[in-house]
Parts: sequence; structure tokens; C-alpha cells
Amino acid sequence: MKFSDKIWLNGHITSIEKANTLNFHQGLNYGACVYEGIRCYDTKNGVVIFRLDEHLERFLYSARTLHMELGFNKIEIEEGIKKLLKANKIRSGYIRPIAFYSEAKMGINILNSKVTFMILVWPWKDGEPGRPVGMYITKYRRLDPASVDLKAKISGYYANALLGYIDAREAGYDQPIFLDKKGYIAEGAVNNIFVVKQGVLYTPKLRNMLGGITRDTIIKLARDLKFKVIEKDMRPEYLKNADEVFLTGTGIELQSVKEIAGYFKSDIRSTITEIISKRYKLVINGQALKFHKWLTIV
Ligand code: PMP
Repeated sequence: MKFSDKIWLNGHITSIEKANTLNFHQGLNYGACVYEGIRCYDTKNGVVIFRLDEHLERFLYSARTLHMELGFNKIEIEEGIKKLLKANKIRSGYIRPIAFYSEAKMGINILNSKVTFMILVWPWKDGEPGRPVGMYITKYRRLDPASVDLKAKISGYYANALLGYIDAREAGYDQPIFLDKKGYIAEGAVNNIFVVKQGVLYTPKLRNMLGGITRDTIIKLARDLKFKVIEKDMRPEYLKNADEVFLTGTGIELQSVKEIAGYFKSDIRSTITEIISKRYKLVINGQALKFHKWLTIV
């Protein structure tokens, strides 16, 4: 199909050459885009990337799910990331590989379409944990694993996260919590959730969410610290006598939850959240020998 010569762009008729023809791509129109979020940290042993291999495996999995040919293998992407961090002189930062179907083509036939693959980085100082958040159980249910492959990070899925986010903000809270189709707690918009009760950590089973790499890290670190961690189906009522709730994700690392509307209000110090958070910091800073395997030196 041939496109018209002119398009309407922000109120003006503009020639298609002047406008970016990427506007027509299937990545934009259908969310046919995959991405990853990775952190790097400035440590005594130099700049390290945290759990790079797992992030790249997930990225490649996401690309395969959309039948996307990236044209680069894992080693080449890793080299690209290292080169880019050095070129930007970034020591502590965030890394975003992102690939999308970028052919100016209408319709959903993405097979064999052109792909654009970028890696973006920006500085992100490793600092204090974010302030505790207030959460709201959104009316939107988490995407069902029968509808999409939740192990992939595909941009189109994030319409669900965005709607939940708007719903939570409109209700006066910071972040949404999604339940699954059966009414069990699934996850936050872009993070996983842990509930602490009488010294035991509970987190939803892997079924109805993106099983975060941070979630996996926290389970392993908590068990290493001899905490019991149980993966469990939890209804919102289960939050009512929780002692602590926290979120996990590559960007936020661990973040305390101060309230879940109607179900949970934190009035004690988040002791276990703090203990695990401190351990996480030691690990990413290369001060826990046992977990050096998770660090890639740039
Ligand atoms: N759930 C969703 C939907 C996400 O987008 C993310 C962020 N990647 C997470 C959970 C947390 O995953 P991770 O710990 O790997 O960053």
C-alpha cells in the first residue's frame, strides 16, 4: 500500500518526507515492540551490570515471541551495551534495549517486516529508596495468560498497566495493584509484590504476571538470609493483617508500600523490608561474594 504524500501533524499539513515515516510503523500502531529495563551500578570493582544475562535472555525471548529478527546475538548485544555505557561515560544508570517493527506498512502482518533495534541509556544515581507508596486495587484485571504470553515484555501489554495506573491516580493513590481473572493478587503495573506476615514472605505464584528478575533475586536473597518465602494465591483480604508490603522491580529495586486502599495500612517499621533491601544493596555493589555471578563488569 502506498501512503499519501501529506499527513496531518500536530495541527499542520506536513509532507510525509518531513514527518518521520516511522509514524506509520507497526510498533506504534499495534504495540509491536519489545523492550528490557536493566540497571548498572558504580562499584569499587568498576561499573557492573546487574543480572545482564537474565535480562538479555528475557529480551531475546520477547523478540522470539513476536517472531522478531533482531540481527544481533546475545554476545553482540552485551558488547553494544558496554560500548554505549562507555561512550556516554555512564557509571550508574539504566539501560533500555528496545526493538520494534518499523516498516511503514498497514495491517498486522508483522512477519518479515523491518525491525529497528535501539539501546538507550541514561544516568541513574543509586540513592535512597523511593518514598513508600499508596496503592489501589484497580478495577482492571491483569492480562490473562490465556490471552498473551506474560513471560514476554511486549509494549502492547502495557495498555493494561497504563489503564490501571490512571485508575489508581484518579482514586488518589500512587500505583495500582492488579488482580487476576480469579480475583487473586497478581502484580503492580510494572513491579511484583511481596507481603510479609509474622516473619514469612509471601508473593503471588508465577502464573498471572511477569515474573520479575528482581522478584527472583529477592526470593533467593531472603532464603539465603533464612527467611521463609512462600509463593501463594492471595486474595486482597489476605493483606488485612500483613505486617509489611513491598514492591520489587529493576528500577525501584525494593519499595515499601504504606497503604493498600481498604486492606492495608503500615503502622510498624518495615523491618524485614529494610533487612532485605540492605542485602540487595550489598549485592548490587559487589560486596556479597556469593552473588558476584550476577554482576557483569563493563
Ligand atoms: N511486572 C511487570 C509488568 C514489569 O513490567 C516489570 C518490569 N520489568 C516487573 C514486573 C518487574 O520485573 P523486573 O524485576 O525484572 O524489573
